[in-house]
Amino acid sequence: MMRPGSIDASVSEACRLASSIAAAVQRSAAASPIELRNALSRLVRGLHTSHLVLLFGSLGRGERARDLDLLVVADEPEVEHAYQRLSIDARQVDLNVATRGWLGTVWEDPEWGYCLSEAYLLGHPPRALEMAWETAVLKYNQPRHRRRCARSHVDLAGRLFEVSIAASRSGQDAAACLLAHEALRLASMPLIECFGRRVYSHQSFFDEVRDSARRAGITGAATREVLRALGQRDDPDPGSYVAIRRSISTVMRGLHGYDVSLPRERRIEALIALSHGTNVLDEAAKSAALLDRFPCPEWLPAGYAQAVRISSEAMERHERLARLASSSRPRDHHLETPVRSSTPGARWVDASGDRLKIILATSGCQTPTCVFCTLPLYGRQTEPAASVAVVGRLVREHRPRRLSLYNDGSLLNPAELSPKQLREIVELAISSEVRVLDVETVPRFVTRDRIADLATAGFESVSVAMGLQTSEDWLAVGLLGRPDPLAIFERALSVLRECQVSARLYLLWGHGVVSTADWEGSLRSSLAWASARAVERVTICPYVSPAADTPPGPTLCELRRQLAAFSPGDMVVDVSLAETPSCGVANLPGCIPCATALRSGQYSRGPACAKTPASCLPSTGA
Ligand code: SF4
Ligand SMILES: [Zn+2]
Repeated sequence: MMRPGSIDASVSEACRLASSIAAAVQRSAAASPIELRNALSRLVRGLHTSHLVLLFGSLGRGERARDLDLLVVADEPEVEHAYQRLSIDARQVDLNVATRGWLGTVWEDPEWGYCLSEAYLLGHPPRALEMAWETAVLKYNQPRHRRRCARSHVDLAGRLFEVSIAASRSGQDAAACLLAHEALRLASMPLIECFGRRVYSHQSFFDEVRDSARRAGITGAATREVLRALGQRDDPDPGSYVAIRRSISTVMRGLHGYDVSLPRERRIEALIALSHGTNVLDEAAKSAALLDRFPCPEWLPAGYAQAVRISSEAMERHERLARLASSSRPRDHHLETPVRSSTPGARWVDASGDRLKIILATSGCQTPTCVFCTLPLYGRQTEPAASVAVVGRLVREHRPRRLSLYNDGSLLNPAELSPKQLREIVELAISSEVRVLDVETVPRFVTRDRIADLATAGFESVSVAMGLQTSEDWLAVGLLGRPDPLAIFERALSVLRECQVSARLYLLWGHGVVSTADWEGSLRSSLAWASARAVERVTICPYVSPAADTPPGPTLCELRRQLAAFSPGDMVVDVSLAETPSCGVANLPGCIPCATALRSGQYSRGPACAKTPASCLPSTGA
């Protein structure tokens, strides 16, 4: 049911948008999910709506989907939200309509915060709305907020489980099963918050529990007990779990007093209220034959107890790892700033062939949260000078065709290099016949206006590099401190593609905070993620701690083995193994044939691994 309010006009427009989008999905049934998302984005751009249109659910993540999940946001300050389920051309469309004010608060809700974080922005939304979405995603993904979410899952699960026991004692078996299953699902969520990707997707919930438990070092027996109770089958089966969740969802949606558009906590409160002193929930569950889905209800209490235990273990382990990662920050170690042909205002000037690489001094990264990164430190240690004059002098001196311009941070961050300075640098580069420009930034600064300015300045090609580190947010954001979650990278990539600017992603590999097996999983999923989004180039940075007392991590031989299993298609995949890296850290050890294979990009060809530590690649750090 719609609630009356100032978004009524937006609801009518949202319904029209939903119809156009559903019709386009129908027409493009054969397209890949990523192509389909691109086509929908073009469609929404052509509709010239002043609303923010977000696609979420499976299609939002770039996966095949039968149903459509849409959120349409109006630029209104009030806090309003309406929901309806539509059927358009026999396709189920879950349509949410809301206001900018609602976006400003809803990230605190664990479920909505998650939905916003897997959303894909269609078309060209007004910048104020895009920023409201971006802020919500950034706030939801702050590690301390994710910890609050994990605690909220545990608390709510405990309350639901108590109510399920009371329902069982009063003979309401169907309600007891529903409540206990809901409690069990919630109790498993902290595990996924800490070590997984998708907390709310029913389709992937089983895999998420299994994968997260493995990463958290939890035994297979405990995980099996949780999965057995969740799927109500002795051989864990995601299909039976999805069927149970569908039945539970049908029961809950049909309850008077249970509003699916409410924040998660209020919905659970409503569910608890409905099971107190009435048998409404039990009757609804019975009439949906819910008990047929629970052949082994006696597994639920044991499964719940295990879920609570393994989630608590996972939270403790995650906290330990986060502390370990944080203590490995380069600020704790005395590092000398690496320099090459330094000049006032630039610590690194490297002219080779027709390329000029400059690392400008602009006081360092202003989003310096990454635990592995030495650049903010170098940036702070290098005395800034007038950036435009520095670049002008160096470009006139070296006359490069290609200019790679960095700044130990984000060149597109207006707080590091002002838009006026960037414009002047671009103008002088063009007038000095620079034809190719490379810059690097955190993705939140990849805005349409900034990128369009670079793309239309007159270069033959422009490339924007971003430090993804890994497509796994539990590792990149949760442990390594990457400032932007994956959804912001997704948005940046679509802006770059639209402006025909090339994207380059950096991946980190081998940091000791997780195992070599975790890095293998990370490499596989990150390369697949980048390849599906037609990223032009991925550069892998093998990690070496700058601290002298850190035990050696995995070897280059291991990296070569992992890379040999991947076929990159058109994407360039290379490994950063400079003789003297500008980041100043050493190279990992590895045998000569493997180091050579990694340098040449021929991972599965050439001489086999020598497997001899004696022939390790010497450290070449500055
Ligand atoms: S990786 Fe990038 S964003 Fe992170 S601290 Fe280093 S320069 Fe800053
Ligand atoms: Zn080797």
